[in-house]
Amino acid sequence: MADSLMATYARLPVTFERGEGAWLWDTDGRRYLDAVSGIAVCNLGHAHPAVRQALCEQAGELIHTSNLYGIQQQQRLGDLLTQLSGMQRVFFANSGAEANEAAIKIARLHGHNKDITTPQIIVAEGSFHGRTLATLSATGNRKVQAGFEPLVQGFIRVPFGDAAAIAQVAANNQDVVAVLLEPVQGEGGVNIPAPDYLNQVREICDQQGWLMMLDEIQTGMGRTGKLFAHQHNGILPDVMTLAKGLGNGVPIGACLAQGMAAEVLGPGTHGSTFGGNPLACRVACCVVETMRAEAIPERAAALSERMLAAFKQQLDDLDGVMDIRAAGLLLGIELDRPCGELVSKALQQGLLINVAAERVIRLIPPLIISDAEADQIISGVSALIHDFL
Ligand SMILES: *Cc1c(COP(=O)(O)O)cnc(C)c1O
Repeated sequence: MADSLMATYARLPVTFERGEGAWLWDTDGRRYLDAVSGIAVCNLGHAHPAVRQALCEQAGELIHTSNLYGIQQQQRLGDLLTQLSGMQRVFFANSGAEANEAAIKIARLHGHNKDITTPQIIVAEGSFHGRTLATLSATGNRKVQAGFEPLVQGFIRVPFGDAAAIAQVAANNQDVVAVLLEPVQGEGGVNIPAPDYLNQVREICDQQGWLMMLDEIQTGMGRTGKLFAHQHNGILPDVMTLAKGLGNGVPIGACLAQGMAAEVLGPGTHGSTFGGNPLACRVACCVVETMRAEAIPERAAALSERMLAAFKQQLDDLDGVMDIRAAGLLLGIELDRPCGELVSKALQQGLLINVAAERVIRLIPPLIISDAEADQIISGVSALIHDFL
């Protein structure tokens, strides 16, 4: 495609110009069923009427002033998110990576406040935390890091899903200040840990005085069947980051904190020109309120069971299918071989899907899809896999 753009993406040969609910139309007027949601962003679907109204109204009132002044919409979003999560304070950014940067800065400053001059953060293999230098250093994927060395120091890597490995670091390292994890690894291939993994990590963090920091950028905003994925565990992290679904496509990120972690950042320690502006916050308030009013997380949980059961019925006996798993409407079908080519095959059939970690078909449809649309995704994807294997 156009040479005027840096070649950071190997783009598919399609361009969309309109969307509605779970459907997108390309520049030739062809229709596609969307099981990607702009990578877990458009959880309320495309052109949601309430989102559109909030965006248009706010654009006509005030888009930006800066954090030099009070911002009503930011205050309201902060109140909403803290009430719904049980966290205490929020810093607003513009993306997921930026939200994680704030979390990493909180962990480091917290360490320095305790006279730990080389604070370390435990992170997981297979994780994805973003593309800035600190967040790519935290990411557990060499492909994301290669060529950008020297990496940011201060991360200790452990296998994902293994609480004992985290406890073992405690025995050998006095400089650890925090653990940073995704409740379910999205980019890493829809890796779902044992149900009590986060509870065990919470316990270790409590014993050691470490901050438990959860990257809920992909798992948050209803995706896994609760507003936030850690709510399945009945625990509260010390720090939680959000982005993706928070603005349903309007860029916004958030770093929430509670307890000691909520008091770490003071005047002059962090900031953002755009972060928390009236436009993004007005839309995010609308997204959160719509999710609550329409019981969207609950709907995602119910649909998840329907889709998982149907996929198991259609695919369980196939030889090349290694595993079928779901955390709400974050579904993964793991094959025994690389399957990236399925993405363009699906596209030709009017279906948008994604492949993560080379061998895992990742389905992340809008949470508002109907039963019939879910069934259409199931039959389309199942047929593709039957043909492929
Ligand atoms: C997408 C994602 C990020 C990065 O978000 P950006 O908005 O692309 O910076 C970080 N962590 C997780 C878990 C993600 O899924």
